[in-house]
Amino acid sequence: MNKINLIGLSRDELKEHLVSRDVPAYRVQQLWNWLYHHGVITFDRMVNIPKPVRQLLSDSFVIERPKIATAQASTDGTQKWLLQFSDGQEAETVHIPEVDRGTLCVSSQIGCTLTCKFCHTGTQTLVRNLESSEIVGQMMIARDVFGEWPSPVGQRHVSNIVMMGMGEPLYNFENVSKALTIIMDHQGISLSKRRITLSTSGVVPMMERCGEELGVNLAVSLHAVRNDVRDVLVPLNKKYPIEQLIEACRSYPGVNNARRITFEYVMLKGVNDSDADARELLHLIRGIPAKINLIPFNPWPGVSFECSAPERISAFADIVYRAGYASPVRTPRGRDILAACGQLKSESQRKRKSA
Ligand code: SAH
Ligand code: SF4
Repeated sequence: MNKINLIGLSRDELKEHLVSRDVPAYRVQQLWNWLYHHGVITFDRMVNIPKPVRQLLSDSFVIERPKIATAQASTDGTQKWLLQFSDGQEAETVHIPEVDRGTLCVSSQIGCTLTCKFCHTGTQTLVRNLESSEIVGQMMIARDVFGEWPSPVGQRHVSNIVMMGMGEPLYNFENVSKALTIIMDHQGISLSKRRITLSTSGVVPMMERCGEELGVNLAVSLHAVRNDVRDVLVPLNKKYPIEQLIEACRSYPGVNNARRITFEYVMLKGVNDSDADARELLHLIRGIPAKINLIPFNPWPGVSFECSAPERISAFADIVYRAGYASPVRTPRGRDILAACGQLKSESQRKRKSA
């Protein structure tokens, strides 16, 4: 029988598995501490668990991480890891170091079912959802790389997570939610919900649940202010048009001036970057505690869009800023290794039915 991977199980699931093997429930806490606070990968390190119990555990379970298939480093310090999972499928994770923190850009799916026109991942048809073990695994790999075990207090190399890698996290909510709950657990990896941002292309019916269950920061890939333009750029808009999306942002649980919604807006030359677009944007989001993140478009092989000129981006940013919104222009990171926003794509292919 295949051994069960302990990584990615909720506390309740862990307890069920232990109890069914006659291991008392109080061992869950010890095990949790070893797995997520100390980051051990073998049972023999668990010195406060008696040897016979450790033996029993290793007979039934494994502690498994994804494998790093390829690691690449950008000249700006950004690192990209192509991770391989137990079935051979692959997804990418990116680490972006900054002066006082480090952000991990985590994938939620292998590929994406949505086909946003400017996104490289969108050209790769969905292969599958990632399991919660594979989502938590991305965080654990990054911690392994930086040697951040046991969970450090104070400054960390991996201090923030953005669910902005491959895939649409709200189309894999069960697994994303399970994984983030493990990552936020105070007795383990212990990353605060304030340091986690989930980005969605606008899966309106799942937004409220995301806020209620997880309470993480929300980023919304708006990218256009008129339905005719957004229908083309983000085809999901045909299902959940701008009005519905904005309404869901307005009522996102826990949103206030200290916890603003981030609107992501990719700057595409001649498509969505005029002064009129900027003014329409202000009109749309009126009354929502928000900041606008302007993302210079990152090109990838074969794409036909171009990035707006720097002067155009500053003019757009100025209009938004003068209306009282923070409007940072995102500095592209890791472009030289195709690690920047929207450049991720793995070679994983959907297994042919005939194979
Ligand atoms: N699927 C989710 C999260 C992943 S994409 C979403 O769409 O929100 C993370 C961000 O990068 C999104 O805002 C996405 O629209 C943006 N993006 C995609 N392709 C890009 C590109 N080529 N250049 C710049 N940003 C891009
Ligand atoms: Fe999928 Fe997000 Fe890319 Fe759109 S932008 S194709 S939702 S990953």
